[in-house]
Amino acid sequence: MTTVRTRIAPSPTGDPHVGTAYIALFNLCFARQHGGQFILRIEDTDQVRSTRESEQQIFDALRWLGIEWDEGPDVGGPHGPYRQSERGDIYRRYALELVEKGHAFYCFCTPEELEQMRAEQTARGETPRYDGRGLQLSADEVQRRLAAGEPHVIRMKVPSEGICVVPDLLRGDVEIPWDRMDMQVLMKADGLPTYFLANVVDDHLMGITHVLRGEEWLPSAPKLIKLYEYFGWEQPQLCYMPLLRNPDKSKLSKRKNPTSITFYERMGFLPEAMLNYLGRMGWSMPDEREKFSLADMIEHFDLSRISLGGPIFDLEKLSWLNGQWIRELPVERFAAEVQKWALNPEYLMKIAPLVQGRVETFSQIAPLAGFFFAGALPLEPGLFAHKKLDADQVRQVMQLVLWKLEALRQWDKERLTACIQTVAEHLQLKLRDLMPLMFPAITGQASSVSVLDAMEILGPDLTRFRLRQALETLGGVSKKETKEWEKLLAALG
Ligand code: GLU
Repeated sequence: MTTVRTRIAPSPTGDPHVGTAYIALFNLCFARQHGGQFILRIEDTDQVRSTRESEQQIFDALRWLGIEWDEGPDVGGPHGPYRQSERGDIYRRYALELVEKGHAFYCFCTPEELEQMRAEQTARGETPRYDGRGLQLSADEVQRRLAAGEPHVIRMKVPSEGICVVPDLLRGDVEIPWDRMDMQVLMKADGLPTYFLANVVDDHLMGITHVLRGEEWLPSAPKLIKLYEYFGWEQPQLCYMPLLRNPDKSKLSKRKNPTSITFYERMGFLPEAMLNYLGRMGWSMPDEREKFSLADMIEHFDLSRISLGGPIFDLEKLSWLNGQWIRELPVERFAAEVQKWALNPEYLMKIAPLVQGRVETFSQIAPLAGFFFAGALPLEPGLFAHKKLDADQVRQVMQLVLWKLEALRQWDKERLTACIQTVAEHLQLKLRDLMPLMFPAITGQASSVSVLDAMEILGPDLTRFRLRQALETLGGVSKKETKEWEKLLAALG
């Protein structure tokens, strides 16, 4: 019998997402229960959006949760490299193999040409899709254009009719018509593979036997299945996990729920409770108990207990469960966890320089800097009354700053200052004019220690969370305003 091998394949393009941890947890449990291996692979073929910082955050966040992998970019293993950006030659070789076998072809279309093709199709009332024009080129012409160094991509052929049957471990056979599939690009003009090629090649070469991934990938499954067929490879067992949802049933999004794992760490959730809660997403223990450990979950894991109704990721429910965990800790362990959370020397050393010059006694520290040890702050709209800006402008400023900070990848005082400065300039104001709004949002007080330093120390998760909270306190932002202000944001650059 072959060993079960599962994997998680995150793209390092932003904050470490709870959805990544959720899928990782289920893959881990499945592998462990079968005495198999769990692999972490980094899918960083999007050169523009992928960063090493984000990759490191994914490692740290998963480890904080207690999720460990047997092979991966940072731990090595026999099937490396485990970072797709380091596997370029492998993908090229396999893309060429498909061309030689007649399953894929070169396409030299310029973006403008494709744009025009789609516009014409739309004008005729057709669904825009690649019309196969690359297939019309003669072998000689292809050679000539390749030799001339013309930019090109490699696309896969797909059947134009019929049905693809996707065997899903949760839903059974799912039928998807082929006419919904486009002739997918496999190799981009920059010589890097797309998700489809890299994912199939890697899952095969890394010996992956079971793929548990989010159901957002189900509609494109036929392309993966076709690629396995073209290569003549056995396809792994597929399992499309239900998507996490906001309490209003929409897809989990950071607009409605914090989605970054580090947010939960900063808020003082216990990793065990987080994992427990993620394990409750669409799955339950045979005895339906709510509180269970990773070891319990591995022992009792069973795909047939996954239910397909969209699991709701609800902060209140998570907090309740976290409370259960916290209250059952031996008190020494509780104290040790609190210390590790924020009463550790490293964190205190960041805060010390800000408070030392402002207090006469240690007992003044808590009233001055208690916000460093808080999550949500008690706010009231009166705190945000502004000398120069009316209430709508105040909300606009807060929203613009929040958006700028949501896009900020490197979090330091200089860059934070620059973001706020940009918004200020747009309103012909100075940086210091906006500070009276930042203080209450971030510290809960009209004045405190340096707020820009505080934002740097609090980090992106808590800072953004508090700005969102402040906006809520001020009445929120309507859909119409969001649209209008997004234009302003674009103009800010
Ligand atoms: N890189 C994909 C992602 O970020 C992997 C999806 C899959 O598991 O195939 O979700």
